[in-house]
Amino acid sequence: MAIDLRSDTVTRPSQGMRDAIASAPVGDDVYSDDPTVNSLEERVAGMFGKEAGLFTPTGSLANQLAIRMLVNPGEELIAETNSHIVRAELGAAAVFSGITTRTWPATHGLLKAADALEIARPDSGPYLVSTTAIAVENTHNFGGGTVQPIDEIKALRKGADAMGLALHLDGARIWNAHVASGVAFNEYGKYFDTISVCLSKGLGAPIGSVMLSTKERVAKARVWRKRYGAGMRQVGLLAAGAHFALDNNINRLSEDHRRAKEIAVAIAAIDSSLIDPTTVQTNIVGLDLAHLPISAAELATRCREKGLWISALGPKYARLVTHLDFDDAQCKEAIEILKVALVA
Ligand SMILES: *Cc1c(COP(=O)(O)O)cnc(C)c1O
Repeated sequence: MAIDLRSDTVTRPSQGMRDAIASAPVGDDVYSDDPTVNSLEERVAGMFGKEAGLFTPTGSLANQLAIRMLVNPGEELIAETNSHIVRAELGAAAVFSGITTRTWPATHGLLKAADALEIARPDSGPYLVSTTAIAVENTHNFGGGTVQPIDEIKALRKGADAMGLALHLDGARIWNAHVASGVAFNEYGKYFDTISVCLSKGLGAPIGSVMLSTKERVAKARVWRKRYGAGMRQVGLLAAGAHFALDNNINRLSEDHRRAKEIAVAIAAIDSSLIDPTTVQTNIVGLDLAHLPISAAELATRCREKGLWISALGPKYARLVTHLDFDDAQCKEAIEILKVALVA
């Protein structure tokens, strides 16, 4: 069978997770009657020290509901140049909420509070767009799974408070950030007004994200979720998969991180321009093919012919993501395939 490292979304529910799903108590969640959804929302909110949570089918929707609660139409959200909200949500903030975005660039997506604060322009008066919120992605996907330094997050909160700005955390992979940094979930929670977390990435649930904030914002977001057509019924079946993922799959992320590092070290040994293994902090290995006479698409094709699936995310940028359906034996095999594909 092929080794699939295109994303950490490719995992399939284990038998244990399927059993939990099959036996979950359910109700109509549009009436807030689904006990498994309610307990999931309360559980995740509690983990991050937030008042309330809202279950959504996707992380993009959780992000979009959150930023809609912070930024009015015609106002501005600022974010890092390669953040998911800016690059991978198909312009949703503009299309759904009339929100404009402006960006600051960061090496490996790593937050420097001063860079964000420097471009923020709150209260810009009647001629210029006013910034009202800043989004931070942790870990940073296109930055290569990098973990945001907690000191920079603290500094950003301080600066944002001084300017009257709100902060959103795109925490699709906050689980990986926690495991890599040892920073507690409720510590991350302290610095953000809204948070989105994803259960279907590293934690391996088939679907689901949760948006977190105050009771008031979550109640409003619940109305917008329904308006967007994502009011769901006996969806405790899915929330049960998420509960199982939280129970079983957080601490094991360190294995994914170890294997990602092994891959990075092996690739750097072939050609050190491809990746600096010290930048690999979690489960994402991003390869820079700028100095090789091969495109990312060509590398992906060569690997695929040998049974390894990877992503070509730019003309010269390839990405491998480790996950819970990828073990040590497959890791060895993947490294052998990459060695051949890269020098061919
Ligand atoms: C995957 C991801 C999301 C959400 O993606 P969906 O496919 O909409 O669930 C949001 N932010 C980041 C950083 C991601 O990697």
